[in-house]
Amino acid sequence: MIQAMQEMGSTLQPTRNFILSRFPAEVIDECATMLRQRASQAGIAEQDLYSLLVIGMATWELERTSLCRFCPRFALVGTAFCLEHGQGKQLPGTPGEKAARYRSGKEVAQEYHYYLPQTPAYILLSERTIPSFLARLMIGRPIPDEGRSLRAIKRKIAGSRRLVEIIGMDFQSLSESQLYRRLRERIDPGEARPRVWLWKLGRLYHWYGYEDRIALIKNLSVNNG
Ligand SMILES: [Zn+2]
Repeated sequence: MIQAMQEMGSTLQPTRNFILSRFPAEVIDECATMLRQRASQAGIAEQDLYSLLVIGMATWELERTSLCRFCPRFALVGTAFCLEHGQGKQLPGTPGEKAARYRSGKEVAQEYHYYLPQTPAYILLSERTIPSFLARLMIGRPIPDEGRSLRAIKRKIAGSRRLVEIIGMDFQSLSESQLYRRLRERIDPGEARPRVWLWKLGRLYHWYGYEDRIALIKNLSVNNG
């Protein structure tokens, strides 16, 4: 990030492609962290101004962020799919692995959207929800029932073998900030809100249930065939 910002600084042209290559939430979080780290130093450096500029550009992109066409994760800006289901060159895995994740996701999504067709308005990033999203992301503004939300999130993870595998067996011992960081690293880098994490984990609980059921049916038909 710092190197990218230095490159930006050398040309004085922070490009939109730089913002679009990441989730806006990641970009904003890293810039806000840099601003906080420098807050005790006297004066304003060029780097601070770039951080603010990039935060402004990434905030603008937040409103263009939508959910993945298949699952409850956020899609990369300007695309229809999340990290798990996208096919972009920068996404993890070989082309074969990405294609397999896409095919599996498409199959599971049919059941997922059939049984869970509604998405509440507070999940989506809009003019109404972006201010609280930013407050959480940039200054970690607590919500009124912070402790209760955290306990509910841990219960939700504990209820799904697949979620425990993905998030890590040590999830119960993680502190609040460690757990939220882990969720962003392993589930959805674009998310920052505790209540929405609760919703997304609940949706993924069903998602992995459908995925397991599809795999079981396929195995049975192979064995019987
Ligand atoms: Zn997805």
